[in-house]
Amino acid sequence: MSDVSQEALRRRTFAIISHPDAGKTTLTEKLLLFGGAIQMAGSVKSRKTTRSATSDWMALEKERGISVTSSVMQFPYDDHIVNLLDTPGHADFGEDTYRVLTAVDSALMVIDVAKGVEERTIKLMEVCRLRDTPIMTFINKLDREGRDPIDLLDEVESVLGIQCAPITWPIGMGKRLKGVVHLVSGEVHLYEQGRNFTRQDSTIFPSIDDPALEAAIGAPALAELRDELELVQGASHPFDLERYLAGEQTPVFFGSAVNNFGVQLLLDFFVRHAPSPRPRATTGREVAPTEDKLTGFVFKIQANMDPQHRDRVAFMRICSGKFTAGMKAFHVRSGKDLKLANALTFMASDREIAESAYSGDVIGIHNHGTISIGDTFTEGEKLSFTGIPNFAPELFRRARLRDPLKLKQLQKGLAQLSEEGATQFFRPLMSNDLILGAVGVLQFDVVAYRLKDEYGVDAIFEPVTIATARWVRCGNEKKLEEFRDKNAMNLAVDAAGQLVYLAPTRVNLQLAQERAPEVEFLATREHA
Ligand code: GDP
Repeated sequence: MSDVSQEALRRRTFAIISHPDAGKTTLTEKLLLFGGAIQMAGSVKSRKTTRSATSDWMALEKERGISVTSSVMQFPYDDHIVNLLDTPGHADFGEDTYRVLTAVDSALMVIDVAKGVEERTIKLMEVCRLRDTPIMTFINKLDREGRDPIDLLDEVESVLGIQCAPITWPIGMGKRLKGVVHLVSGEVHLYEQGRNFTRQDSTIFPSIDDPALEAAIGAPALAELRDELELVQGASHPFDLERYLAGEQTPVFFGSAVNNFGVQLLLDFFVRHAPSPRPRATTGREVAPTEDKLTGFVFKIQANMDPQHRDRVAFMRICSGKFTAGMKAFHVRSGKDLKLANALTFMASDREIAESAYSGDVIGIHNHGTISIGDTFTEGEKLSFTGIPNFAPELFRRARLRDPLKLKQLQKGLAQLSEEGATQFFRPLMSNDLILGAVGVLQFDVVAYRLKDEYGVDAIFEPVTIATARWVRCGNEKKLEEFRDKNAMNLAVDAAGQLVYLAPTRVNLQLAQERAPEVEFLATREHA
């Protein structure tokens, strides 16, 4: 087997999806601990704070206790290379999160045992559904009193519409938590508060029939467990790898992230069964991860990661082949070769210069605005990866300058921030307005802050009567021309030059659609 195939097969690239406070950060820390990436728990949070302290506009995220930036963490585990792509935590930063989810091969859903399925989890799950992303589930905070585990699985099945296959099962909960049983291996792992912090520190019994187990957890707890297991086995589904890979079934684990309990069982199962990079669709053909030639797409742009250098980093997910430091790659949109010098990889806890990277890995490419979200890189072939969406914004503002002489800077700033996906930017056909669109209201605050901080522009955002936007498409040039003439008042172009219908009301949109049946009104646009 070729080097490229072998390396691709041992990659596991995933993201954690959860409602804020369910324990994503804590679980991330523990996973990194197993990878030997960090010695001390708490490093993820503290790294976050150091970074916010050094970068100016990130002061905003610190102020609001939110994370605007996503990062990439890579660690080796059990002969595998795990890539964990962090998703921004705050509900308002939807678009960014959606795009991160296009760059992963699977996801891990974290649920708070006391709260069950929450609103943000439902939204993220809908996004995973678009690509049938395989999902594992970790039910967290077992050291606290929570809901009945069987009820929780019922809720996941009915609310999220995915079948549950419990892999571990809790023995008690809260103060009565004794451990978990592994339903596949039969092993029992004891919970010993404070002792599970490092890896091999759990006491393990080979099965629930081991006589020593009764002595350890007591006869009543054991009897209760036996009854419950009978119930569970009757009511739940056995693990089915194919159904999991098809996104139809989720293996479920129970544990406590903060106590590092149940986490290793999850990680072991994850590296064994979660998918390695899968073939990906492009405008031309499907690209297999085992192909020799490098391909990849940009799913995220981040400005000013290093405040000393006011540049941007484009995050590229590699889909095939091998990246080597300093190589040239073909930037399909511009038709030019770009030298990928000083690319970053994200091994361990520090960013470092990449030597090589393979399908499933993410590299960071420094640039000054030549690279946009959705861009494809190859070794010369003209193809573009599909499925990296822009979502129709639901919130709109008109940008107005305090100092009218700064119009050029404002236009430049808005164009660049929209390339990064921080906002969407529309220019009406019939006016000189600059309209901003966003999916979440905090996006406007970030844009205002960054315009001032990075472009020296003091802009005010005023309300406008726009309810929603739709990208407009029509195969028939003449009909499109007619449509454009009749609806010019409500039409604009976005930053990429695509035609967009800005509807003052939902009713107006409906009427426009009825009057022009030959025109398509799209709620998402693929990055061109
Ligand atoms: P995030 O918002 O999803 O990243 O959540 P965090 O990891 O920041 O956790 C939110 C809060 O829950 C923090 O105060 C954590 O210490 C706490 N937490 C995380 N895991 C556990 C757990 O297993 N048990 C308990 N009791 N608290 C936890």
